Amino acid sequence: MAVPMVSPTMNKMTGTRTERIETHERNPKWKLAPMRIEMSECINCDACLRHCPPQLGAIFNVGADVVIIPELCSGCDKCLPVCPVNCIYPFPDWEDSQVPAEWWEQPLSDNDPYD
Ligand code: SF4
Ligand code: SF4
Repeated sequence: MAVPMVSPTMNKMTGTRTERIETHERNPKWKLAPMRIEMSECINCDACLRHCPPQLGAIFNVGADVVIIPELCSGCDKCLPVCPVNCIYPFPDWEDSQVPAEWWEQPLSDNDPYD
């Protein structure tokens, strides 16, 4: 699979979900931290996935896990109230950890629930 080119001007191109997926860049205008799912607490009910706005589309099933790709998550909080076990948390240090490559295989794939 081709690796997307990232240039200093790329931040101007993160306005749509497709652009964010192609560049792996978060929209710099988003001031809220993205969310993360604590996998040890999650019961895999998929309620959060169904409530993430399609234009953001940040939550995916990856194997047995439900995950949030921080570059696609605006921190809008819409997933929080629907989680029955309250296992979705703000992720202010998201830039210190790297999203596993297999997570990025989900957006725009046949398994993308928002596409
Ligand atoms: S905070 Fe908003 S964008 Fe992020 S995963 Fe939850 S619903 Fe989706
Ligand atoms: S709503 Fe909560 S328990 Fe259900 S899949 Fe999402 S994070 Fe896991």
